[in-house]
Amino acid sequence: MQNKIVTQSLRNRAILFSIAISFLLVAISFFGYSNFKSFHQEPSFQIQQRDDFLISLSSMRGKLLDAYKNLNQFLLAPENALSQKHVIESIQETIEISLLLKEHPWIEKYKREKVLSFLTAELNLLKADIKKLIRIRLDSNNQYPSLAVSAEIMQPNRDRLNNLLALALNEANQENMQVSKPLAYQNLLQARHLWGQVLSNFRLYLANRVGSFNKNALPVQEKAIEVQFEELKSQLIMLKASAAEGKYGFETSNAIPEMESSALNWYQGFNKVKVIHHSDEWRRDAKIMKTIISPRIDSITKTLILLEQVIGDSAADDMKSYNSLGNEQNKIVWLIAFLGILFTIIIILSLDKLIFKPISLVSNALKQEALGHQSDSLFVVKTKETQELVDAFSEMSYQVHQRQKELEYRALHDALTALPNRTLLIDRIAHNIHVAKREKQQLSLLILDLDDFKEVNDTLGHFAGDDLLIEVGNRIKNILRDVDTIARIGGDEFSVLLPHTNEEQAIITAQKILSIFQKTVRVDDIEVSVSSSVGIAVFPYHGEDVDTLLRHADVAMYVAKRNKLGFEVYSEDDDDNSLSRLSMTRDFRDAMKNDNLTVEFQPIYDMEHKNIIAVEALSRWYHPEHGNVSPEKFIVLAEQTSLINALTYWVLEKSIAQVSLWHEQGHDLLLAVNLSVFSFKDPDFIGELRSLLRKYNFPSEKLKLEITESAMMENPLIAIEMLTELQSMGIKLSIDDFGTGFSSMTYLKQFPVDELKIDKSFIYRLDSDESNDAIVRSTIDLAHNLGLKVVAEGIESKVVHELLEKYDCDMAQGFHLSHPIRADDLEKLLKK
Ligand code: C2E
Ligand code: CA
Ligand code: CA
Repeated sequence: MQNKIVTQSLRNRAILFSIAISFLLVAISFFGYSNFKSFHQEPSFQIQQRDDFLISLSSMRGKLLDAYKNLNQFLLAPENALSQKHVIESIQETIEISLLLKEHPWIEKYKREKVLSFLTAELNLLKADIKKLIRIRLDSNNQYPSLAVSAEIMQPNRDRLNNLLALALNEANQENMQVSKPLAYQNLLQARHLWGQVLSNFRLYLANRVGSFNKNALPVQEKAIEVQFEELKSQLIMLKASAAEGKYGFETSNAIPEMESSALNWYQGFNKVKVIHHSDEWRRDAKIMKTIISPRIDSITKTLILLEQVIGDSAADDMKSYNSLGNEQNKIVWLIAFLGILFTIIIILSLDKLIFKPISLVSNALKQEALGHQSDSLFVVKTKETQELVDAFSEMSYQVHQRQKELEYRALHDALTALPNRTLLIDRIAHNIHVAKREKQQLSLLILDLDDFKEVNDTLGHFAGDDLLIEVGNRIKNILRDVDTIARIGGDEFSVLLPHTNEEQAIITAQKILSIFQKTVRVDDIEVSVSSSVGIAVFPYHGEDVDTLLRHADVAMYVAKRNKLGFEVYSEDDDDNSLSRLSMTRDFRDAMKNDNLTVEFQPIYDMEHKNIIAVEALSRWYHPEHGNVSPEKFIVLAEQTSLINALTYWVLEKSIAQVSLWHEQGHDLLLAVNLSVFSFKDPDFIGELRSLLRKYNFPSEKLKLEITESAMMENPLIAIEMLTELQSMGIKLSIDDFGTGFSSMTYLKQFPVDELKIDKSFIYRLDSDESNDAIVRSTIDLAHNLGLKVVAEGIESKVVHELLEKYDCDMAQGFHLSHPIRADDLEKLLKK
């Protein structure tokens, strides 16, 4: 049943799948993590380096600025040695920083060694330039080129002109020209005055320039000097003319041309100074500042800025990397989420396909089974577990059906001979009467009873008796047509239904049947010869319904037996013979009235504790003529003659009285009493039972009523109602002869019962009959599942007893433990 090719363990698949998913997710996460980590470590390292670097660069720029400020300060006040010192220090520090930066890993990483070398070189040059500038600034001639011109060119000419003028005036004084030649004298004085003014203006001019007092005044001062010098020049020309007229002395006349050349030379110097003063060179330090130092500082600053920019760009690069990393991480997160959703969907779909659907199919099939419908055969599924479930279901369904069939079969067949039983026979008679009526046909019914069968049973034992019955059944069956029915309807009673058969044909069949008894039957190596008597009743002449036909065939059989006729066809004369039944009935009624009936008790054992927990009351009738009459016979009689209710009350009262005594003696026993179907039809039953219990003060929970399945099924609604009331009184209820009546377990659930009594036909051959074994076992399981106790009756051997013990049967009853015995014998047994 199990499909080995397609089955694959769902569990294994699930494990493999989970491992695969876990690996995949871990791998993706790890990839994401390491990706992020590498990225994360690098930039944070870089950020630190970049910060270091930027700090260094900005400190360099700061120091450079310091140096520049201090340098300017120094230029303004060269006597301030402190600023000079600061300048050099600041530059030195920048150089040191640049040297340190050269070792910075970032430089190495971004390959900026050349830039750094350039920077250091520039700084060194700057330092040299600054030193030079300082030197220049400290030397004022060097500092102001115009001073040099003034000293070198103008001063000698000035001194010379001064001397010449002094000489001329001296001579004029000696010659007393003030008086003699006052005009010429005046001209000399005027020349000296103009010269003095030019000089003092020039001094002012120079001071103004060098001192940087007022730059705007320079052109004005220059103009003044030029104007005065022009006046001086024309004065000197006048002097020259006067000298030529011989107005001056010898020395003066000689000095005047020299005066003119000195003045002109001086003026040349002045013009030079003017040019210097209007050029950048008027101050050398300014020029150096402007042409060398400032550009250098600019270039260094630019380099620093450039480096900062490069770093900024690298930061932007990092930002980009971060962004792309973020994007990547994002993608990974989405990927994981997507995979997660995908896995979830796959899992849900496969759960649905592999588990939920099969389970719902199986549960639907189970429901169908429970409702009694045949379920469709179940599909093949692809996993081991669900396949196992389906297999288990199929197996169970198969078993249940088998068992049901078996039970149905049992319900309608005799367990021993496998022939139809009384129920099926009655059903078939009814059906054939119906057909015969419609078709205006006849049918015949035969009843056949073995003579002296009891003797066989008693002398050769049960098994021999059983074998004999089986053999007889087979022989009869062999001579019948397929349409005929042979049924076993009692211990040694058979019945044959012959459709479409009239009296003549029935007689032929009866003769044939009798002929088969001419041959002995071999049982247990012994040849047994048996005979039988056959009664015949024909529809519609001897009866038009099942009961009448059966009764009349029975009457005919009695006549045949008593008169040893072999067979007899019913006739109304035989009603005399039914009088014998009437007398039996009368005898039975008397026996009950005169207490000639007795009750025997058969103990029921608790299988677990191995003690007697209950006794079943079984009635006995000893007939003065016929000896012991079997309960099966006199109970049918009682039922047919409405004596059954009286018998039930009689047995109840007797047994309750007896068990009450045992209770008083301290034996805690349950009393089991058999009920007939007529108790259900007895409206007084419950009331009578109550008053009986009250009369003997008998606890109702100690009473157990045994009812056969067929009695319950005759009118289930009334049965359920009455059983419910009995149960509410506390009385225990047991289904007797379980397995011979119901066709379905489903009914069982509807009856309020406490216990099942498995019929003895299943039990006594339990050890040798496999199908019995299966039925008994599953019945015990089922009963337990329904919360019912199980009694096995008919235990005849130790082997069977042990088997039942193994199957967890609760209680045991049978000849192996004890036959039904008289009250005093049971008392002895109890005392043991
Ligand atoms: P039952 O209720 O099934 O009673 C058990 C029958 O099985 C008894 O037969 C008992 O003697 C017999 N038995 C017990 N152990 C074994 C065993 O190990 N092997 C075999 N082969 N038989 C065993 P009994 O006493 O002949 O009674 C036959 C039936 O008559 C009873 O079957 C019951 O249905 C009916 N019956 C007996 N007494 C009463 C009664 O007072 N009232 C009613 N309504 N029916 C009764
Ligand atoms: Ca019983
Ligand atoms: Ca029984």
